[in-house]
Amino acid sequence: MVKKPDTAPSLSQEDKKKVIKYIDERIDRKIGIVCSVCQNKKWTIADDLVIPPVYKENRAQLLGGAGYPQVMLLCGKCGHTIFINAVRAGLVPGVPEETEEPPATKKSAKAEEKPGGGSNG
Ligand SMILES: [Zn+2]
Repeated sequence: MVKKPDTAPSLSQEDKKKVIKYIDERIDRKIGIVCSVCQNKKWTIADDLVIPPVYKENRAQLLGGAGYPQVMLLCGKCGHTIFINAVRAGLVPGVPEETEEPPATKKSAKAEEKPGGGSNG
C-alpha cells in the first residue's frame, strides 16, 4: 500500500465530482450558488479539506482537537469561501459522538432558536 505524501491534495478529481453531484442535487440549478459578497456564480473546489477547530467553553483551544472536515468552495471572483460538510457530502466517514463527559454535566440549555427559521422543508 502506497502512502500519499503530505503534500498530496486530500481531494481527488473523483472526490470533486462527488462534491459537484452532491451540490447539484441540492440547489436550484437555474440560480446556482450566488456569492454573498460579489454575486458571482463561478466557484472553485479547493484541493484540500480543512477542519476549523471546535470551540468548547471550558477547554483551551488546542490545534489537532476535534473538528468537522469541510470542503472549501472559493468564489472565482472575490475569493469568498463557503464550506460544505465533507461527512454530509459522503467524502469522509462519520465519527461516533464523543462520550467522555457524563450526561450530568450537560447544561440544561433550551433548544437553540434559529433566526429567520431557515429550514428548507
Ligand atoms: Zn465573490
